[in-house]
Amino acid sequence: MTEATNFKFCSYEDADETIEEAATASSNLEQDSTMCDTEDHQTSADYYFDSYSHFGIHEEMLKDVVRTKTYQNVIYKNKHLFKDKIVLDVGAGTGILSLFCAKAGAKHVYAIECSQMADMAKEIVVANGFSNVITVLKGKVEEINLPVSQVDIIISEWMGYFLLYENMLNTVLYARDKWLVNDGIVLPDNASLHLTAIEDSEYKEDKIEFWNNVYGFDMSCIRKQSMMEPLVDTVEQNQIVTNCQMLKNMNISKMTSGDASFTAPFKLVAERDDYIHALVAYFDVSFSVCHKMTGFSTGPRSRNTHWKQTVLYLEDVLTICQGEFVTGTMTVTQNKKNPRDVDITVKYSLNGRRCNVSRTQQYKMR
Ligand code: SAH
Repeated sequence: MTEATNFKFCSYEDADETIEEAATASSNLEQDSTMCDTEDHQTSADYYFDSYSHFGIHEEMLKDVVRTKTYQNVIYKNKHLFKDKIVLDVGAGTGILSLFCAKAGAKHVYAIECSQMADMAKEIVVANGFSNVITVLKGKVEEINLPVSQVDIIISEWMGYFLLYENMLNTVLYARDKWLVNDGIVLPDNASLHLTAIEDSEYKEDKIEFWNNVYGFDMSCIRKQSMMEPLVDTVEQNQIVTNCQMLKNMNISKMTSGDASFTAPFKLVAERDDYIHALVAYFDVSFSVCHKMTGFSTGPRSRNTHWKQTVLYLEDVLTICQGEFVTGTMTVTQNKKNPRDVDITVKYSLNGRRCNVSRTQQYKMR
């Protein structure tokens, strides 16, 4: 799962910097005026669920084969888990996971989906001849009336950027506590957040320092904001300077929603002499109840997924020597105003031969 990001890029030929030419440059106001006023009347919750109503975001998720094939393998290669079982698909989207479960022999699958995509899921279920096995329920998990009091299996693809962005995990935990039988299973049942550090001078220049001098003007007030927003992007393996460390492991079968807010210490040891510009977070998920341990990683050393990695730029450039380490803590909390957003605080320090720094930085995923 991942919320749609609808960035609009416009490209212009390089402008000559004379005042006259800048003043006469053509405008595309007509084209742009439609971009601004469409979402004013919507709440952020409306916007969130609306983004899942369009097929584009589902296309992106379905075409993420690391993601979708892993779920398919988990289900098809572990038919013994599904045979004659009642399954609940939390946030069914197009219904793909429900279809996998039905095909693997589930007795019945309840597919809950709150966006308009639920109507498509209903059609898809009929078109594929599973209307006896799959019931699509349109609505929020937290508000739905499930026709049965208990289910044997809960399956969901709830992971957001930085694992916890969008906070759908809470919805899965809610469903687990309300409907899952005592010895029932949650798929996936394990998720972990990891951290490493990278050299990234070029991109930091382009995304952050850019604001210091924009066509000759000081826009560094925006630089401050850009520093606070973690960047979702892919990181090349050769940028990695330190080891990778697990920050937090979550057992989805047992955890409480409070466990998704935490402070975790880290110690990242440099594997070579280099500069560090950013920390990089990513997550792994696993399905430990499978016959053979199955899962996937969204880390920079694994095949890319649509989640990419999450880059947190550091105020300081850290000059680090092989064997030296950056230590610190990362605190992750739900934003109080908008619980789908994530607040991150990083404290880091390096006491090296060439560099001595200690700092606290705040980030907001939104
Ligand atoms: N299971 C599908 C879709 C995953 S995306 C797949 O694997 O392709 C997550 C879906 O959960 C989205 O379609 C979103 O609309 C839905 N969702 C998120 N929160 C929900 C809630 N509280 N109740 C019902 N559906 C929810």
